[in-house]
Amino acid sequence: MSQEEGYIKFNCHWNQQTVNFPPKAIEQLNHWRSKLYQQQLIGIYPDGIGFGNISVRLNKDNQFIVTGSATGQLVETTMEHYARVDSFRIDTNEVWCTGQVRASSESLSHAIVYQTLREVNAVVHVHDIKRWEKWKNVLPTTAETTAYGTPEMAMEISRLLAVPENREKGILIMGGHREGMLAFGKSLEEACGILLTLE
Ligand SMILES: [Zn+2]
Repeated sequence: MSQEEGYIKFNCHWNQQTVNFPPKAIEQLNHWRSKLYQQQLIGIYPDGIGFGNISVRLNKDNQFIVTGSATGQLVETTMEHYARVDSFRIDTNEVWCTGQVRASSESLSHAIVYQTLREVNAVVHVHDIKRWEKWKNVLPTTAETTAYGTPEMAMEISRLLAVPENREKGILIMGGHREGMLAFGKSLEEACGILLTLE
């Protein structure tokens, strides 16, 4: 994932180690990730760059399980394609994670939602040009000048989540991240349902 000059680079401190994830959580993640993959909301572009990621909260300390980087091309995922985000710092764009893969470079967009909304247990980031063009600036939308994977994007998400009506919608459009959308909810079913029913 390239970063343009002037941005604080995403810095992933990776503890490469097998994690004993809760099997039920992985089962749910695989189930919904595969539905989103079938709809091409998670996948890979012709140039080989993967897109989209999915996560669930592990605990009240805002630790979560997220799809690893470079897993967009996989038709099916298994336990080793996930990483646990142990801690993070929004201001310095840093993540500490454990797993057989590194956490997605978009993990901080998930992290800020868990940190801001204690009731949220699932966050889903997908790409879709049709829905993005249709809903940009109609649904709550982050500033077009804000690039993905930056502390500024996390702050933008946090700004929008401070508004109760935005929180109720369970979805944000990422104005400065072409095709990008972020949905969240009490469960994966709820978060994915919002995306899949959005025409
Ligand atoms: Zn993205």
